[in-house]
Amino acid sequence: MKTSDDQFGCSFCGRDKKEALILIAGIEGHICELCVEQAYDIVKQELNEQVGKVKSTDDGFDMPEHITPQQIKKYLDQYVIGQQEAKRFISVAVYNHYKRIRSTGTDDVELEKSNIMLVGQTGTGKTLIAKTIARMLDVPFAIVDATVFTEAGYVGEDVESMLARLLQVCDYNVEAAQRGIVYIDEIDKVARKSDNPSITRDVSGEGVQQAMLKILEGTDVLVPPQGGRKHPEQKMLKVNTQNILFIAGGAFDGLDKIISRRLNTNVIGYSNQDDKVIDKENLFQYVSPKDLKTFGLIPELVGRLPVLGYLDPLDQETLVRIMTEPKNAIVKQYKKLFELEGVKFSITEDAIDYIAGKAIELSLGARGLRSICEVIMMDDMFDIPSSKSVKELNVDLAYAKAKLDKVQLKKLKAA
Ligand code: ADP
Repeated sequence: MKTSDDQFGCSFCGRDKKEALILIAGIEGHICELCVEQAYDIVKQELNEQVGKVKSTDDGFDMPEHITPQQIKKYLDQYVIGQQEAKRFISVAVYNHYKRIRSTGTDDVELEKSNIMLVGQTGTGKTLIAKTIARMLDVPFAIVDATVFTEAGYVGEDVESMLARLLQVCDYNVEAAQRGIVYIDEIDKVARKSDNPSITRDVSGEGVQQAMLKILEGTDVLVPPQGGRKHPEQKMLKVNTQNILFIAGGAFDGLDKIISRRLNTNVIGYSNQDDKVIDKENLFQYVSPKDLKTFGLIPELVGRLPVLGYLDPLDQETLVRIMTEPKNAIVKQYKKLFELEGVKFSITEDAIDYIAGKAIELSLGARGLRSICEVIMMDDMFDIPSSKSVKELNVDLAYAKAKLDKVQLKKLKAA
């Protein structure tokens, strides 16, 4: 038994006081710095195994563990109305993506990356789906606009700046960014325009698509943290894109004609009955990778976005549901807003229907619902805070009509 001061050492590895750099005293004995480190590693490993999470403890982003495609879809249902097919596609793709991340290094069968391409008119919920998925998974999420990307040497941004955007949202935590989601909006705008070979449009054409390939595929990319090319002196950060999920979306104006042409050529020589089952109102549901190539995306890029989903155009009935059903539906928001003023807010069904109809009539889509509501409610929102007598506001059809008639609806269209 050690008696004198000089004789005590680490109770775990037996090193004596002279050999250890640091000795921490406990009630019964001591522990040296090496044993503390080892113990920390053991604890970390044990905890990871028990929790089974792919998670970093200090980046503030925790991915839920055992989440199934059906649970992902259920979550999406709370925020995204309709779009059943797109939600199913996305749920499976996201599930596979994160399953793949978890299996990294434990298997010799390499699971391929499942980046996603969403095709659908503007305002149908593409960004909303991507945003909702990121919120559910609690991973960093960035939205980038493909139209700002240009080839080196032109005015604009390098494609690498999309990763800078991702780094910015997670405070430059590279590890967190490497598991994030990037939504690339307006991917259709970088398509090669074969019938319009304007020199200026070419700037954001094939070169940009080529530059995107590598990033989407999964590789180490040197990213200027501030983005852009304006700070050539800045230190680069190395980001591996292997586990970043890229979701690209675009309205693809004119793609319906390409699909229709392909479908029609296909039926020639076959039974004409096929013709009848084609839903001409929603041709995007038949989209194939081939159509995207015809549209002007290079085959390699189409290949790097293998999950191809489409969004349905929104009809009046869906717009009504969008106004009332999602967790943060506009009508619920107004209710809350007026409640804060001590005013009970209600809106009749026919008024909601009328607003949805106006959004269709003016081709404003779901985005226009809010602007129309703002016009209708503007006077009340202006007056009510300074009036103590108003305790109730009921918007009915006549009221909504009267308010909208007062403004030039064309203005809304331009907004
Ligand atoms: P896109 O990216 O397809 O152009 P967004 O996802 O940005 O369209 O949609 C714009 C807004 O319209 C959303 O923020 C949301 O409020 C509303 N919206 C569009 N589609 C839906 C939908 N299917 N369900 C609920 N809200 C929707």
